[in-house]
Amino acid sequence: MLLNLELNYMEAYTLKKKKGIEEYHLFEGRMTAEGCTSKQVSVCGKMNKEESSGNIFACEEEDSARKKCAKTGKTVCLDCISRFYTSY
Ligand SMILES: [Zn+2]
Repeated sequence: MLLNLELNYMEAYTLKKKKGIEEYHLFEGRMTAEGCTSKQVSVCGKMNKEESSGNIFACEEEDSARKKCAKTGKTVCLDCISRFYTSY
């Protein structure tokens, strides 16, 4: 069984604002034909999708998501951001 299929699905990142508080968390997902998905829980695990009060950006690839986080002027959750700066 080949696992190459996985490569057809680009990772997508969405930055969401948490309701009632100045916190911004990153949600990981996949690009699909209809747009992109995002996981139920943020990368850091501290925010749920239901707690979102809106997207700062959505469906960005890793590289552009990293740049947009840096440019947004918002204080994006460090635990979420560290995803972009650790290699594993
Ligand atoms: Zn976070």
